Amino acid sequence: MSTRVNAVSHLGESVPLILANLPDVCPRCHRSIHVTPHLTSFDVNNRVQSVFRCSSQSCDELFLANYTRDPGTNQYRLQSTGPVKFEASQFPETVAEISPNFVQIHDQAIGAETHGFDQLVGVGLRKALEFLIKDFVIQQHPSESELIKKTQLSSCIEKYVSDTNVKDCAKRAAWLGNDETHYIRKWEDQDIQDLKLLVRLTSNWVDNVLLTQRYVKKMSPPTS
Ligand SMILES: [Zn+2]
Repeated sequence: MSTRVNAVSHLGESVPLILANLPDVCPRCHRSIHVTPHLTSFDVNNRVQSVFRCSSQSCDELFLANYTRDPGTNQYRLQSTGPVKFEASQFPETVAEISPNFVQIHDQAIGAETHGFDQLVGVGLRKALEFLIKDFVIQQHPSESELIKKTQLSSCIEKYVSDTNVKDCAKRAAWLGNDETHYIRKWEDQDIQDLKLLVRLTSNWVDNVLLTQRYVKKMSPPTS
């Protein structure tokens, strides 16, 4: 639904214009919202920005929306909103406990993606995956700790990961096979998607193994 507003220039001049659409998701809390513009400005480059306030009471934050003119019309269409607050991922408690580094690095990688720092996402996710797998494998094989730390991620998966889904996905991921190519490697979108899937599968696998071990321990009869 289009909205008529009076946009203000930096000289205080007011010009009526039409916003073709309004934001329907808050960039701060990511909830669905119904908002109206509080203030709209335009500049000499024909850039239009509006200030909105999130309609969710628990959020209530102000944010900006950027508009550009629809060619051949007098309407302005929403391009982006910000500043974006990224949502921290929810990993199982077992995973967060065994590898707090993984959670931290993963969230930073997703934060980079949210802010458009595309070049950091793949590198960050790969590093996060390495922490998760190695922290878990070391916990399961403490006597091999030093060896595991030095082993390449792909070899680590091959040797220690028992879950076939994780292994199959890791094999498909070409970027994982040769750690040496990272210097020249460009992370493609498909790589990132594979990596996200691999992170999810690995996190589920780690959670399953740890929960099962806890359960078995709890249920095992006391030794006399
Ligand atoms: Zn909000």
